Amino acid sequence: MSEIGVYRLNVGSCNGCDIEVVCALAERFGIGNLKARIVDEPEKANMLLVVGVVSAKMAGPLKEVYNKLREPKTVIAVGTCALSSGIFQKSYSALEPTDKFIPVNLYVLGCPPSPQAIGEGVARTMGVKYRRWLAPKGFRGQPELDSEKCTGCGACEKACPTSAIELADEGNKRTVKFMYDKCISCASCEEVCPEDAVRLVKKRHPSGPDRALMRVSAVEELAGCPFCGTFEVPAKQIRALVNRIIEAAKPYESFRKDIERAAAACSRCRGKTANLEGAKALLLKLEKSIIRAAPGSF
Ligand code: SF4
Ligand code: SF4
Repeated sequence: MSEIGVYRLNVGSCNGCDIEVVCALAERFGIGNLKARIVDEPEKANMLLVVGVVSAKMAGPLKEVYNKLREPKTVIAVGTCALSSGIFQKSYSALEPTDKFIPVNLYVLGCPPSPQAIGEGVARTMGVKYRRWLAPKGFRGQPELDSEKCTGCGACEKACPTSAIELADEGNKRTVKFMYDKCISCASCEEVCPEDAVRLVKKRHPSGPDRALMRVSAVEELAGCPFCGTFEVPAKQIRALVNRIIEAAKPYESFRKDIERAAAACSRCRGKTANLEGAKALLLKLEKSIIRAAPGSF
């Protein structure tokens, strides 16, 4: 295979990905060992590495550089910002991700991706073999979702700073979707999950040519609201919540069905006067059950 020229373009990076690209040039990780040479002019390159979020000022130069590349040209989007605008997605100067401006052949995920992942991406695009690297000690990588434990409560979605987690309700089903192309491995989801259903593992996010495949999801069944039938609260979430309440106050066990019914109410029915009165009456019964119970029994 003849040597290929690689041109790197920073379209608005914090420099994290830039540093990792420079590391990837080191002999140890060796883009150079792959018969790929970094060049300083796009006209001499047929591979483009894009790092950073496409900022308003860099959209034009990005297209110009792409047009100057030699044929056959390939583009690798390196890092979460180049893939999905990452933490900068709502910034005033951040435009759309790279693939909205030029065609992208491969996405290398990570914030920032490791030099090994970048080397792997270059090798994969060139169709040559590359050494497999294990993640180093203490490496914090992709969030893994345990669908058995997940109740679909949505705490992770609210905590995620890059909108990498989406909850979608359809009929009586809720899907919790993790999108790795938006993930920055911050671990907020792991921290807030009440069920320990998500944890960051030492695996690198998978790189590849198709962003749609960089997803992992769990599907939960929604319980119908006992008052109007609307599907809004996941059945597993209700069970987990009620179990926790009864664990903390054993005398509530005889009111399990009533507590489950109250917890399953949809947001609209919860606020209705009759239901509020019902909830107050239930609280009174629960309080009495505590008073009746012998001290120390819970
Ligand atoms: S149980 Fe955990 S992973 Fe599932 S939706 Fe709630 S916070 Fe997210
Ligand atoms: S680690 Fe979790 S919270 Fe953080 S960006 Fe990734 S999916 Fe979102």
